[in-house]
Formats: sequence, C-alpha cells, structure tokens
Amino acid sequence: MNQFDVIVVGAGIVGISHAFHCCQSGLKVALIERNDYPMDATVRNFGQIVPSGMNLKWQQFGRESLDIYKEIQKEYDITVRQEGTVYLASDHEEMSLLEELSAINQENDYPSSLLTKNECLLKYPGLKESYVEGGLFFPDEINVDPRQTGKRIITYTRQKYDLEYIPNTLIKNLITANGSVMLTTASGDLLKASNVFLCSGNEFQLLYPELFKESDLQMVKLQMMQTVNQPQQRISGSILTGWTIRRYESFQECPSYTSIKAKEDTSSYQRKMGIHILFKQNQDGSVIIGDSHEYCSVKNEEKFNSDTNWEINQFMLEEAAKIFDLETFSLQKIWNGYYSQCTSSDIYARTISDQIHIITGIGGKGMTASLGYAKKNIEHILSIKA
Ligand SMILES: Cc1cc2nc3c(=O)[nH]c(=O)nc-3n(C[C@H](O)[C@H](O)[C@H](O)COP(=O)(O)OP(=O)(O)OC[C@H]3O[C@@H](n4cnc5c(N)ncnc54)[C@H](O)[C@@H]3O)c2cc1C
Repeated sequence: MNQFDVIVVGAGIVGISHAFHCCQSGLKVALIERNDYPMDATVRNFGQIVPSGMNLKWQQFGRESLDIYKEIQKEYDITVRQEGTVYLASDHEEMSLLEELSAINQENDYPSSLLTKNECLLKYPGLKESYVEGGLFFPDEINVDPRQTGKRIITYTRQKYDLEYIPNTLIKNLITANGSVMLTTASGDLLKASNVFLCSGNEFQLLYPELFKESDLQMVKLQMMQTVNQPQQRISGSILTGWTIRRYESFQECPSYTSIKAKEDTSSYQRKMGIHILFKQNQDGSVIIGDSHEYCSVKNEEKFNSDTNWEINQFMLEEAAKIFDLETFSLQKIWNGYYSQCTSSDIYARTISDQIHIITGIGGKGMTASLGYAKKNIEHILSIKA
C-alpha cells in the first residue's frame, strides 16, 4: 500500500496550493484528482489575480500569492503576465470609492495610482469616453491563463519537489485507523497518509455529505463568454468596471461605501443576477467577458438549472458594449462556472479526527488567494503537530 505524509484530494487551485506548500516543507505528498487534470472552477475562471479586490485579511494572502506565482514563473512558465489591474469608474460615486481605496492602499503600502479620464482612454484602446470618469491602477497585479496554470504548477511541483500526482482517481471513502488515514479509491485501491487535505471544491455528495448539508455553504453559478480574436486591438491586464467597484469587498472598507450602496436600486436586473462587467484579453487576442452570480444553498434539493441563461449573456454583452468598443463582439465560447462559498465566514475549514483537513468554500477569491492562504494554513497545521 502506498503511504504518504500528506495526501491532498482535489487538484483545483486550493488543492494544488496545499500540495505545493507541503512539498516545500519536505513532506512526501500525493495529489489525487478524479479527472485527468482539474476541469472545474480552477480552469473556468478569468485568471485575474487581484488582491486589490479583497478585504485586508485576504489581500495579504493575495499579495503572498502574487509573490509565489512570480517566483515560480522565474523558473517555469506558468503563464504569468504582469500587466496590472485597473478599476474604471463610470460616475462620481465610483470615482470617490477609487480615491478612498487609493488612500487605504497607501496606508497599507500596496502600490496603486489614480488615472484621469484621459489617461484611461490612452492606456486602454477602445474604452468609451462616454463611460469612463477615471481609474485606479494596480501595477503589481498579474493575470494567468487558467486553462494552463494549474496543470503547469503541478508539473513544476512534480519536477522540483517530487510531488506524486495521481490523476483519474476518485476517492470515495476516508477513515482514520491506527494513527493513519486510509483512503479508498473508486477502483478499490487503498492509500495511506498521516494527514489528508480534502480540497474537493463544490463536490458535496461523495464525502461527508451530512457535514456539508448542515453547513452554511452555498453554490454559485457564473456565466462567462469569450469573443473571437480581436484582429488588432490589444487591451492589457485585468479590466474591472463600475459595478465591480460597487461589489468587491475591498471597497466595503471605504468610508462612503455604505451611503453609496444605500442609493442603489436593489430590484434591478443587474443586482438580481449579480452581474458586473469584467474583461480580460487572452494572449491569442480573444477577450473574456463576464460575469453573473446566481446562488443556491447546499441544503436545497433543487439545484441550479445547468443551462446557460441567454438573457443574462445578452444583458452582459449590451453592457460590455457601453464600456468598450471591441473590434468584434462575435463569440467563440460560452460557459458556466461554479464555486462554493460560505454565507457567514470567508472559507470552510474544518478538521476531523485531527488528521483530515477539509478546505473548501473559498468563493470567488481562489485563484488570487489560495497560494498565500495555503502557505499560512500548512505552517499553522504543521506547527500544531510539531
Ligand atoms: C466563472 C468564474 C470566474 C472566476 N474568476 C476568478 C478570478 O478571476 N480570480 C480569482 O481569484 N478567482 C476566480 N474565481 C474563483 C476561483 O476559480 C475558485 O475560487 C477556485 O477555482 C476554487 O478552487 P477549488 O480548488 O476550491 O475548487 P475546484 O476548482 O472545483 O477543484 C476541486 C477539484 O477536486 C476534485 N475532486 C472533488 N472530489 C474529488 C474526489 N472525491 N476525488 C478526487 N478528486 C476530487 C475535482 O475534480 C476538482 O478538480 C472564478 C470562478 C469562476 C467559476
């Protein structure tokens, strides 16, 4: 029977990050994934690594992640592009929030610079004069190609730290016995480890279904679109716009946030469907546009309708066209993505029998914060066990 110090179940970004840091600590680690490579939220996102959007606690994890992504990129191409993030305000209220966030960031020593309307128009070709009031730019932030990055961190960690990657293997049972955790795969094989990290994303049916059912976890469904390649137009970095300023957690720390939010129409279609408009141009010239957010508690028997709601996509395209003149809005792909999050805390982290550590429900911040969060989490767990 194969025996490891640590087995991580689930090769999404949360699992990859935990496996990476365990390997760095010198442990013998296996990372197990039910598919060939991750196929869920970790590959279905924008690949925007944006600590600027997070509250102070998670911004720290995000900043740590930025450093780790950049360090790995120096040795192995994991598709990191340091092109910065911009938040584009569409009115004076959003501009006030940008000014306030810029002051908060100065205090926290996190570089950002305010951009005038003209500077925005010069920096972002196709941006509409009728939309933008000004911007806030974060030069240290990066973006990645999510379809590649997870895979490549796995390859890097296998080559550098001897990570054992076990794909196409579903774990269907975990038990603790004689001081170890025994894992049974769907084909009946047994694996053994001193500690297990269960990072199974929004898979709640297989392992510990009762525990998840009594939690405050909820599932979130997001809709995304990708245009065909823009022939000439090049837009660098992560582009976040007015509704994002009104949505992201970092802005909740701004003094005028509450009064600005109080004036919003909570019955609008945009609010009901949790829509904000973000853009990211891929290296091939195509542009990802999204996204919407629909919510469903894990307690509900009735799940989401898994079809794409075309009304949402139509609305997002119309709104996107008010912000950018893209050379073409023709689409080559649409997809839905799902992640889980907690309604009353910022992550679901629970340890069973001292040896099984469940980490899920990281919400919309996984690509940004997982590497930094996992570093802290592994240090914490190993220090308790030392
Ligand atoms: C549309 C969309 C856009 C987003 N944009 C961004 C963004 O730009 N920036 C950002 O920071 N975050 C973004 N996010 C959030 C981010 O993608 C998620 O927070 C993150 O990917 C969650 O990672 P995870 O590892 O928890 O889950 P997952 O990616 O779901 O991975 C879980 C893995 O566990 C495996 N698994 C489950 N059960 C088992 C089992 N029993 N045995 C073996 N394997 C198992 C699954 O196959 C899966 O690969 C976005 C998310 C979506 C959906």
